[in-house]
Amino acid sequence: MALTASDWLQRIRRLYLPQKVRIMNVCGGHERSITQAGLRAALPPAIELIPGPGCPVCVCPEEDVHLAIRLAMEEELTLATFGDMLRVPVNVRKSDVRSLEQARAAGADVVAVASPQEVVGIARQAPDRPVVFLAAGFETTIAPVAAMMAQGVPQNLSLLLSGRLTWPAVSMLLNSGEVGFDALIAPGHVATVMGPEEWDFVSADHGIPTAVAGFDSESLLAAIYAVLRQLRDGGACLDNCYPGVVQPGGNPMARRVLEDVMDITDAAWRGIGTLPASGFALRAEYAAHDARKVFPVVRDDTRRRAGEMPAGCDCARVVLGQIRPDQCRIFGGPCTPRTPVGPCMVSDEGACRIWWAGGRRS
Ligand code: SF4
Repeated sequence: MALTASDWLQRIRRLYLPQKVRIMNVCGGHERSITQAGLRAALPPAIELIPGPGCPVCVCPEEDVHLAIRLAMEEELTLATFGDMLRVPVNVRKSDVRSLEQARAAGADVVAVASPQEVVGIARQAPDRPVVFLAAGFETTIAPVAAMMAQGVPQNLSLLLSGRLTWPAVSMLLNSGEVGFDALIAPGHVATVMGPEEWDFVSADHGIPTAVAGFDSESLLAAIYAVLRQLRDGGACLDNCYPGVVQPGGNPMARRVLEDVMDITDAAWRGIGTLPASGFALRAEYAAHDARKVFPVVRDDTRRRAGEMPAGCDCARVVLGQIRPDQCRIFGGPCTPRTPVGPCMVSDEGACRIWWAGGRRS
């Protein structure tokens, strides 16, 4: 019989924990489940759960949003993107247009979409009007975008791609010499696509206990228990606590289409900098649909501000797990979901927004 959340909590409470244990949960979806279910309060006080870099909107480099705003404002086209991207602020001074939402208010044709298929539909409805799709996301989001490209898209549709792989950010943290966690909960959705093996390096190379988790309390608590047991026993391995969904090797079809359509490239992460082999780029055969090659505004833009966050914003340290969201100096003051200063307060997967919605305002 499957264990309930209460069963897992009892098992965790029975474990002897000699000292404080810091567990990083990489994924924004995990952070949302943890906060909504109140798992932090239910766990023994010695266990600290730290949100990590798994919010694609939060790490989308400022210059990509800026380029999308320029395209929307300066070209005759439709700019489509996932809804979370509309309110991401950029750091332009002396301008009223600091987000795609503000560009829309200023008259630009900016639309929120829920899927790549919706963008294809928009492009088909107006074949004479260019449509640019700003696609920001991790492997789980970029795989359907790759499938859209592989199936063939209308000639008027271009992609402004801002796709990232999840594991390189964790690798960077582990190699930084300032590892701020003792164990890792790896993202279930990413592992579903790419395979759990991608996370082997955390335990094999760094000796950090790791478990892949799903998104309900039972799976998350099973993963927390798994890493705590590894810590107690002095070992480190990769446990799969989402076995019904995460299979060895991931989803071969999704991986193949990603390989067919995308190259892996060095990429900028907002607040973090450039990480080697951490981004997706359209392969050369798709150049006619690559907004970075099609539009002069994008081609000629030399603005490179990957590390830059808005003034006073601590999103970079939140994303890296160096501080809690409520330790940002402006959390809940100038920065709330109604008046977001940084990207972590914009996205449904941003730790600041999740903590605010969960009532953690201390
Ligand atoms: Fe950034 Fe706002 Fe979070 Fe501070 S509270 S880290 S400014 S999103």
